[in-house]
Amino acid sequence: MAPPALPGLFAESALLPDGWVRNVSLRFAADGTIESVSTGADGADLPRATGPVLPGAVNAHSHAFQRALVGRVQRLSPEDDFWSWRERMIRLVGVLGPEDVEAVSLRCYRDLLLHGYTSVAEFHYLHRDANLSLYAEPAELSLRIVAAARGAGIGLTLLPVLYRRSGFDGGRLEGPKARFGLYGDEFDRVLDRLESERRLVPFTLGLAPHSLRSVSRSDLDELAPRMRPGVPVHVHVAEQVAEVDGCRDATGLTPVRWLFRHTAVTDDWTFVHATHADADEYVTMREAGVVAALCPTTEGDLGDGLFPFAEWVAGGGRFAVGSDSQVSVSAGEELRALLYRARIAELRRGVPSPAPTLGHGTALWRAAAEHGAAAIGRRVGRIEVGAAADLVVLDASNPLLEGLSPDEAGCAFVQSGSAAEIERVVVAGRTVVERGRHVDDERIRREWSAAAKRIAAALS
Ligand SMILES: [Zn+2]
Repeated sequence: MAPPALPGLFAESALLPDGWVRNVSLRFAADGTIESVSTGADGADLPRATGPVLPGAVNAHSHAFQRALVGRVQRLSPEDDFWSWRERMIRLVGVLGPEDVEAVSLRCYRDLLLHGYTSVAEFHYLHRDANLSLYAEPAELSLRIVAAARGAGIGLTLLPVLYRRSGFDGGRLEGPKARFGLYGDEFDRVLDRLESERRLVPFTLGLAPHSLRSVSRSDLDELAPRMRPGVPVHVHVAEQVAEVDGCRDATGLTPVRWLFRHTAVTDDWTFVHATHADADEYVTMREAGVVAALCPTTEGDLGDGLFPFAEWVAGGGRFAVGSDSQVSVSAGEELRALLYRARIAELRRGVPSPAPTLGHGTALWRAAAEHGAAAIGRRVGRIEVGAAADLVVLDASNPLLEGLSPDEAGCAFVQSGSAAEIERVVVAGRTVVERGRHVDDERIRREWSAAAKRIAAALS
């Protein structure tokens, strides 16, 4: 059951596109967008936010089912690498049924909301059943994602993934990996079904060729007619050195150069990770308006490498953060990791900021929300008229934030905070988290608990 709609919110301080503003009245329209933004004392009739109000964070890269991997893949031997992590991830893929996918996604989205993410882009590549047949409803698992997002109350951009081969040699998908493959007209059937679902349930639909190792040039050509202006296109790019080398060996080009040579990359595109590119490639990406979706906690857990964040920001590059493997579900933690890796790489604290008039933490939060909104194709990420009423209200009485200015509190939250400093999370004008608790917490935990037992039994 959806929580009741709020009429609006009176914010003692709010982070607007122009900076921090005091005494802001936000009034919400029936469709969950912000209808008006005014300053002064005319909001006496509205619920009052005494703590700083931030735009909700955007999660630009999620594989929700991998929330069930956390803890199962952190016990390592010295030989473990990305590819052995991947084998364990694929083992989980082999045991998940539709109820499990929905329950783990619901729990994952709850966790994201608790930490201030109000939108998620779900990069969804699990399509076939465990016997490798299409479900009677070809979009079964995609619809489970839609149901989970709706159940949790998080804004959704669904990115159905095209994944057709095991590597640059064109090998067939085998074992549980074969659950990813859609062939012939199957991908179109899934997309058409999701288009019709959107008439009933609001969500944004994009496209995601998984990576260049997983799709061929003709596969990408097949997607081209659907890449209309405004449709988000996401692709994993240059996450691993082995992937870059494999692409160069097979095609003579690195993944970034290959994409610019053979596809029409625009500012609707998001390159996920883009860890191993060269300086010229980063310039080309920035000039095209590509958003870099960075997932530093996952990239750190997997030992991927370091994206040159300071140079990217200095060049005006657009960036978003993602929870990817779900080892962290906190936007603040991702931004903190980006900030610290930039300072470590530069050997100084004063690294480039997307908004120098704000503290680093607050500036990164706002930029990631704004650029993330572009990446996911939704009008979110800014507290302004016409945008979704997606807000994070910090708790002014939390000891970490007491006595601080709004900008200092934003920085403290990003660099030192957790879910504990969040008083309320609002999505589309409705409160979904209040004082650390999701409004439908009992049901979500009950469904997850049953799924956790099924998954544990299936993996044992
Ligand atoms: Zn990913």
